[in-house]
Amino acid sequence: MHWNPRSLIVFILVVFLGFFAHAEVGKVGKIRLLIIDGQNNHDWRKMTPWHKAQLEATGLFTVDVSTTPSGGADWAGWQPDFSKYQVVLSNYNGQAWPGPIRKSFVEFIENGGGAVIIHAANNAFPGWKEYDQMIGLGWRGADYGKRITVADDGAVTIHLAKDGADAGHGSQWEFLVTSRDAEHPVMKGLPVTWKHGQDELYHGQRGPAENVHLLATAFSDKAKGGTGENEPMVWWIPFGKGKVVTNVMGHVGPKTDAIQCAGANLITMRACQWVATGEVTIPVPEKFPSVEQVVLLEK
Ligand code: ZN
Repeated sequence: MHWNPRSLIVFILVVFLGFFAHAEVGKVGKIRLLIIDGQNNHDWRKMTPWHKAQLEATGLFTVDVSTTPSGGADWAGWQPDFSKYQVVLSNYNGQAWPGPIRKSFVEFIENGGGAVIIHAANNAFPGWKEYDQMIGLGWRGADYGKRITVADDGAVTIHLAKDGADAGHGSQWEFLVTSRDAEHPVMKGLPVTWKHGQDELYHGQRGPAENVHLLATAFSDKAKGGTGENEPMVWWIPFGKGKVVTNVMGHVGPKTDAIQCAGANLITMRACQWVATGEVTIPVPEKFPSVEQVVLLEK
């Protein structure tokens, strides 16, 4: 057969399109997840690769990373397209995003997108009304908003602004985490109480505290500089058609136990699946922390 130049070009195009179509088929069914980092008072350069690798190892996610400009840099070139994703994992605690990016993030969640907010990412964006609504409780002063504490029997108390502690944490320790909604897909199958890897135990988180569905709490021991209350650790909030899970566990620096913890890591991964699809299929690993024993995943 003699190839004329035009049919040769067509042939090459067909082969290329076939190749890309095949590459896309491999991604079918995977959850499209975007991690945002770039500014944080924690070592985000260590944290992002960890979470990316853990998520990818489940076989359920394709993970992209969008890194914001550093402080003082020009933001014009940072244009994340949230609409390409099902879930945004925020590992970001820094400058306010430009207005159009904030608007597109709100629209993304309103339209059914999911977000998972880890550790200091809930410190970000004071004064951004919609973000405060999405996280419900953030690292803010006592006069900023309400606070939630939970009795041992699960009874929830909502404290008004100025009642009780500012947001903060005591010294780092290995504390017990207790499920408050054991039937929720993110928590299902976990022991009711288990010991978390060394971490900061956030207390006195503040905000509008509306529509907060508590998934887990931890007892903030006064002997460790805490409040003597059960403090929210993991919770979710519906926002428009979307869902936002906050997991305040996961401090990094200098140790990484808090993200290596098999319990906290499972919750973050399951939260990502759940906000994206409404279901959870990631199993509880065989080696899981107990009341006595922390379990750290290998780095
Ligand atoms: Zn921290």
